[in-house]
Amino acid sequence: MGAQNGLRTVSESLAWARAAIGAVDARVLLCHVTGWNAAALIARGDRALSAPLAVRFEALVARRQQGEPVAYLTGEREFYGRLFRVTPAVLIPRPETELLVELALGQRGAYRQPRVLDLGTGSGILAITLALEWPESTVCAVDCARDALWVAMANAARLGASVSFIESDWFANMGADRFDLILANPPYVAQNDAHLQAGDVRFEPQGALASGPQGLDALGQIIADAPAFLEEGGWLMLEHGYDQAAAVRSRLVDAGFVDVESWKDLAGTERVSGGRRLRREPLP
Ligand code: GLN
Repeated sequence: MGAQNGLRTVSESLAWARAAIGAVDARVLLCHVTGWNAAALIARGDRALSAPLAVRFEALVARRQQGEPVAYLTGEREFYGRLFRVTPAVLIPRPETELLVELALGQRGAYRQPRVLDLGTGSGILAITLALEWPESTVCAVDCARDALWVAMANAARLGASVSFIESDWFANMGADRFDLILANPPYVAQNDAHLQAGDVRFEPQGALASGPQGLDALGQIIADAPAFLEEGGWLMLEHGYDQAAAVRSRLVDAGFVDVESWKDLAGTERVSGGRRLRREPLP
């Protein structure tokens, strides 16, 4: 023990945790417990970690060793440059979902004051990011899980985003509203996919991950119902699994969408597919 009173120093605590859960997670959890950044952990390495902090840190390291995701232990995850609160009621934001934000923002030239709908908002990342990045937009977010909506509403309030939230199972409670852009990161994992029971994913809400035997049930339902909620020419853009792009495109075409296309995430995987509601031709 480098510090007095039988306490570990900061750098000893970090070394101990690194051996248990790896360097990155150890650093993130110690930053969380101390409230310091990574540079401060190094600069203050010789200080003793106080007993209350050591107790908290050891408890978090033990939970991480049991597999709990770091984002649930710290209660936050970064998305598109902002920190969002997350709880086990919501899926942990994934970096590939930023592609949906980029694609939506790519429509800035086409719409001045778009009406945007985020279906299955979870922690609210898509709706809130869009509302903040595109202040002229009017953003509505729905989720069927009330405990997820509480998380999303808290995030909107903390980040100062103006979003209206509706409890709805996809479009069920959407009334007669129409939108220029409908975005969704729905559940798209096959229900018997082994990765649902593995690693961090097993701690996440299954309802936000799994959807039918091929993972296509929610995607198919959204595609079938979306045209009634889209303005003419409006876009539906959907995140999906690494091997689902062709299936999603063909459902979009079957539902009458035009300009159907898939886009790749930073890993080079076709991750989002979308299309536009056909503009009705005027009668001759
Ligand atoms: N990309 C996530 C995963 O594979 C799934 C997210 C989702 O179903 N929307 O764990």
